[in-house]
Amino acid sequence: SKPTLAAPELFVQQAYINGEFVSAKSGKTFEVTDPASQEKIGVAPELELDELRGAIDAASAAYKELKKTTGRQRARWLRKWYELMIEHQEDLAKLITWENGKIFEDAQKEVAYSAGFFEWFSEEAPRTYGDTIPSSVPGNRMFTLKQPIGVAGIITPWNFPAGMITRKVGAALAAGCSVVVKPAAETPYSALALAVLAEKAGIPKGVFNVVTAHENTKVFGKELCENKTIKKVSFTGSTPVGKILMNQSSSTLKKLSFELGGNASYIVFEDGDVDAAVEAALPAKYRGNGQTCVCPNRFFVHETVYDEFSTKLAARVADHYKAGHGFDSASTLGPLINSAAVDKVEAHVKDAVSKNATILTGGSRLPELGPNFYAATVLGDVTPEMAINREETFGPLIPIMKFTSEADVIERANSVDVGLASYFFSKDVARIYRVAEALEFGMIGVNTAMISEPALPFGGIKESGFGIEGSKYGIEEYLVKKTVVVGGV
Ligand code: ADP
Repeated sequence: SKPTLAAPELFVQQAYINGEFVSAKSGKTFEVTDPASQEKIGVAPELELDELRGAIDAASAAYKELKKTTGRQRARWLRKWYELMIEHQEDLAKLITWENGKIFEDAQKEVAYSAGFFEWFSEEAPRTYGDTIPSSVPGNRMFTLKQPIGVAGIITPWNFPAGMITRKVGAALAAGCSVVVKPAAETPYSALALAVLAEKAGIPKGVFNVVTAHENTKVFGKELCENKTIKKVSFTGSTPVGKILMNQSSSTLKKLSFELGGNASYIVFEDGDVDAAVEAALPAKYRGNGQTCVCPNRFFVHETVYDEFSTKLAARVADHYKAGHGFDSASTLGPLINSAAVDKVEAHVKDAVSKNATILTGGSRLPELGPNFYAATVLGDVTPEMAINREETFGPLIPIMKFTSEADVIERANSVDVGLASYFFSKDVARIYRVAEALEFGMIGVNTAMISEPALPFGGIKESGFGIEGSKYGIEEYLVKKTVVVGGV
């Protein structure tokens, strides 16, 4: 299952520091495996702390020049990087499927989505306007300046090996920040392929650095938070790790953007279009094999449409999802990232079934395919005391719960500590406004579950974190505002 790349130079097993592809000085490496086949893909350097510091220093040196460039110049680099990603879409998608496991069609969509952030931020780069402010004192002139915050440290997860990087780096580079990116150890190759393309796009050395580490992940996280040269850390990952990083960042009062866990609700009201709700649920839940932070995780269905929705959804899922290797064109569901992820899904299903949930489809591992596969699963008769109602599953599992009143379902949807995405289906205009305002989530899909594109602000509230990615606001996360008062005019 080794893919053939049209541009084999995109597969790199070295880190990228100061414009050079480098191995670890110690010679140490860690292995990266295909989560579907369990076969070794290759290795990546296990860098040490001094090598990370070298990358930070290189980014700092590059920043001294980068901050003098115009937004227009940075726009051209980003545009070129975008075009190169599109040109190499197939190869980049192959790397994603290989290291992450998601089916190839999903991976192709991820490349388009990821490249879209470079395109979007190429358009934002020349538009970081400030204000001129009328003075209350005669003879004073006042204005604001927006300037890059400085070197940014970027820590990304494995579920979107390219997208989580471009969404951050596009904004950072548009603002004029150089970056040190620490990709997840499970998926370093997409990040390194982006480095190959950065070089082709003419992005100066030291502006985009990729540091790889597995055992040293925690050491690297701590250093990025505590190093005084780094002025900003952007992290996507779990809420517990976000809390660790925030603690570590207090030593330097680091500016932070965190995209953390979600536990999205998916509500079907009695006046909602049941068929549309069924169809929208499939890609929303099973994209990335259920491993995205905006995947609906708690389905609440009004008691009057519960039977119809559950029956139709279970039938569609049973009919549509065929698990297999992401490169096999017959597959519509890939593996999970590792067997621990499958253990969690299995534990949630066992817990629910022991408390009288019903398996409507799926409900088991698929050992004949490998240890990381779990069937697309739908559970009915789920109740609030089951673990799945409180914890994010991060796998191909849909639990369906019944509700009776709008007030009750809003309370139940909001009853979690996190607040990233949520979805609901209703045709009642007044209810649409009322419920959208009442749900405590950063992003809300109404009669749709497609809520992420570069033009839209992406971000959570509550313990899903803070900071916005994408949209006209995303670049602000990498800018500082300065006030200038000119007296004696
Ligand atoms: P996930 O469930 O997506 O793996 P994590 O929050 O555990 O979520 O990991 C997200 C990213 O953060 C990964 O790249 C992981 O390697 C990294 N990471 C995990 N723990 C730490 C830590 N203590 N400091 C810095 N990075 C970490």
